[in-house]
This record gives sequence, C-alpha cells and structure tokens, in this order.
Amino acid sequence: MRRKLIAGNWKMNGLTQDGVALAKGLSDLYRTLTKPSFDMFIAPPFTLLSKVVETAKESGIWVGGQDCSMYDSGAHTGDVSPVMLKDLGCGGVIVGHSERRADHGETNDIVKAKAEAALKAGLGVIICVGETLAEREAGKTLDVVGSQIKGSVPEGAKAGHVVIAYEPVWAIGTGKTPTTDDVQEVHAFMRQKLAGLLGEETAQQMQLLYGGSVKPSNAKELLSLPDVDGALVGGASLKVDDFWAIASTQLSA
Ligand code: PEP
Repeated sequence: MRRKLIAGNWKMNGLTQDGVALAKGLSDLYRTLTKPSFDMFIAPPFTLLSKVVETAKESGIWVGGQDCSMYDSGAHTGDVSPVMLKDLGCGGVIVGHSERRADHGETNDIVKAKAEAALKAGLGVIICVGETLAEREAGKTLDVVGSQIKGSVPEGAKAGHVVIAYEPVWAIGTGKTPTTDDVQEVHAFMRQKLAGLLGEETAQQMQLLYGGSVKPSNAKELLSLPDVDGALVGGASLKVDDFWAIASTQLSA
C-alpha cells in the first residue's frame, strides 16, 4: 500500500513573516494528527528554508528545496548544493520542475545529475516530468513523459528515496487539469515505464504525484485515482486553509 504524499511548492513566493506563518499554521495542524495517514512536504524559497525548517521541526512535515546544484560545492555562483540543503536540515528537494526546465534550460541529463547528487547527499528527491500543450495536442504525451523518465531518473532509484511528479506544463497555474482518465492513463504508463527501468517491485512501491492546478475542489477526485499517490501543489499551497483542505481529503481515505 503506497502512502499518499501532499507536497507544496511555494515557488518564488513569501517573505519571512508570511513564510513562517504558513509553516507554523501547517505544522500546528499536522501535529494534531496522532498517526498521520499521509506525508507532507513543503518547499519554500531558499531564503526561507532555514526559518521554515526551524518552524516545522518535530512536526513531521518534510521540508526541502525547489532545486539544487548537481555539484556538492565550488565555483558555481548563485547555486545551492544538496549537501548544503542537507546541512540545513532539509529532507528532500524537487528537481526538474518544468519552470526550471524552461527558464534555465535544464535537460534530462542535468535533472538526472541533480537527482543523483541529491540522493548522494541523503535527500529524498521529487523528479518532475510533463508535456507541453503543443506536445499533448500532437499526441506525444506518453512519448515525452516516457523519455523524461528514462532520461531523468537515476539508475537504481529506490522507492522511498525517489518520487515522480507528473505535471502537465499546460495545467500548471492555469486552472486547467487533464481529465481523470488522462491522469490515470499517464500515471499507469509511468509505472509501467518505471517497471522496465527499475523493476516491477520498485515501480509498484514508488509514489507518483499529480501536479497542475490541484485545489480543494478537485483534490479528492484526482487523489483517488489508482496510480496517483499524492499531489504536488503550487498556488494552492500558499494558503494554510487551501493546502490543508487538499491534505484533509486524505484524512479518512
Ligand atoms: C507546480 O508549480 O508545481 C504546480 C503544480 O503549480 P499549480 O498548483 O499552481 O498549478
């Protein structure tokens, strides 16, 4: 039985006061669950990581970065290494988000190198994949997602250390979502692809998240699909009530 993971990507949002309040609100709520039936991960901007790690300490919420370098240290101005994230008390990191792939030219090879560096540093990794609107309209969704998985997921990746997030680029921040049939089709395909790369057992255990305009009103439906093991949430992760409403769909699940 795969555990659900509710992950929040704050992107480039939040100053100290808002970020700490958001982390505190979520930590207080998550702490009320004596035996949480789902995991929670939040990824604030680098500037807030230290304070959010401190605020969420011992709440059980997993805090991490939105990206990391593929290097451990050295002459890489502006970058943050996975070793530094680990040192700060982070438990994980997102790599290969479509905004990184598009805005920073990150290829599958780069995403894979970052994932490998993060695993080596002892972090859990959420690897994002997903097609653009043009690719979907050209009927290339499965080809694109399949090659991103093949190119971005490290060899020998293990469930519990690596999570895959399917985020159709056209659904991110747009309010649009694929149909539930389409989401299930892609997730089942990803699991099959992972089975070919990592073995059936690992593929069956690996958590596959859906991301792209997840909100309180559609979370239950999306999260009840057989191959959807959680959500990666952007906009709706910035408000305690919205993010908690999404997570709460898993309370009695
Ligand atoms: C994201 O950026 O990972 C995301 C899913 O954003 P949103 O929920 O705002 O679509």
